Amino acid sequence: MDGKIGVLALQGDVSEHIAAFEQVIRERQVNIPVVEVRLPGDMEGLIALAIPGGESTTFMRLIDQNGLREEIRNFSGGIFATCAGMVVTAREVKDESRFAPLGIVNTVVNRNAFGRQRESFEADIPVAGIASPFHAVFIRAPVVELAGPDVEPLAVLPQGIVGLRSGKHLILAFHPEIGGDLRLHHLFLDGILSLPRPGA
Ligand code: GLN
Repeated sequence: MDGKIGVLALQGDVSEHIAAFEQVIRERQVNIPVVEVRLPGDMEGLIALAIPGGESTTFMRLIDQNGLREEIRNFSGGIFATCAGMVVTAREVKDESRFAPLGIVNTVVNRNAFGRQRESFEADIPVAGIASPFHAVFIRAPVVELAGPDVEPLAVLPQGIVGLRSGKHLILAFHPEIGGDLRLHHLFLDGILSLPRPGA
């Protein structure tokens, strides 16, 4: 299999994302390098790009500073976005005038949907395409409040959509790269590689 998986390495839990994808690749017995992406040239040869959590205002500033906005917008591979990644890939971010998101996914996002009382929490949530509930870690998590018809919700809480698929992209409000459950990484790679999932 040709191609590489890139992890946007401007901010956030980059090493956890790299470790998670490297493990999934080992489990699938395929040979796909996982590389860090900081500059437009790093996008060359990627079949997938992970966008980690972090802080979306800072994220967008660094994306623009490094000249990555158009490169990511025009990317033809799949995007695996978590937490702040859900914010930066949105079409619109509610009540946010400091930055324009990338507009890759047809969504309107509330950046901090769970408020101060519930800044961080964990919950076992059902996710479409996953056999049993997923133990999801939410950290100042966003939600999708409005989604276009091309968006397939995979996980929904009373506050909004916390997991979705849009074409090859998988977008999550929580952090599947921590906690050791890599079923969502496998689900994502199923779409990218069209391989049967081990143990599915
Ligand atoms: N709500 C945060 C933001 O909008 C994202 C939090 C996270 O990625 N852990 O930047």
